[in-house]
Amino acid sequence: LIVLDHVEKHFGELHVLRDVNLTIHRGEVVVVIGPSGSGKSTLCRTINRLETIDSGTISIDGKPLPAEGRELARLRADVGMVFQSFNLFAHRTVLENVTLGQVKAKGVKPAVAKATAMDLLERVGVADQAAKRPAQLSGGQQQRVAIARALAMKPKAMLFDEPTSALDPEMINEVLDVMVGLAQDGMTMVVVTHEMGFARRAAHRVVFMDAGQVVEEAEPETFFTAPRSGRAKDFLSKIL
Ligand code: ATP
Ligand code: MG
Repeated sequence: LIVLDHVEKHFGELHVLRDVNLTIHRGEVVVVIGPSGSGKSTLCRTINRLETIDSGTISIDGKPLPAEGRELARLRADVGMVFQSFNLFAHRTVLENVTLGQVKAKGVKPAVAKATAMDLLERVGVADQAAKRPAQLSGGQQQRVAIARALAMKPKAMLFDEPTSALDPEMINEVLDVMVGLAQDGMTMVVVTHEMGFARRAAHRVVFMDAGQVVEEAEPETFFTAPRSGRAKDFLSKIL
């Protein structure tokens, strides 16, 4: 579904993505881990073109990423993204957060968008919060609204960039449980996270990045118990 081929990216002098080759199949859940600054967020951001790349190609469903206009808006709907910092519209209600994109970007009728939104809020367990503003919710609830908002666009794939790292410990699982549910429903997912429990429960593959390179790819059990590279061993010894 998503193919990165010889992707290179610099920020000025800094070489942030080095010859990244990665294929994410339909229905696959890929967990990306690696040290701070290794390029994980940049990798996610290039996939829905929040960042451009210097060379190489990224394609979705066999088509190269569009550069602009309606096609780009479509891409952002097709590839939902959930950030560490929720990024909800602060001055809108929870319900509006999940409805607006459907109406504006996809031309869905307001009544239909509202019904879809309520279904999704139910699914992520915050339907009773629909009339509140984001600031009135806990972090875990806000993140679940952010997931519902992305799902409302009926994406082909979802990107998660450290979705639980801004949360208090007791709220982490409520978000991870929603993500595990999505994975079980067959959603294609790229998840940057250091939550090894999630990787073990839901990931088909772990991709380990260091210094802009994909250093190692393996099934979670293999990666956590028998990492091949010195860099992965070193990283795991620090976080486990
Ligand atoms: P973390 O685990 O801390 O989130 P990361 O693996 O997500 O790290 P990135 O955010 O992708 O890493 O950053 C990779 C490198 O690129 C870092 O050195 C970072 O400082 C740099 N970088 C990221 N965004 C920009 C930008 N917009 N302009 C310049 N440098 C950037
Ligand atoms: Mg990051």
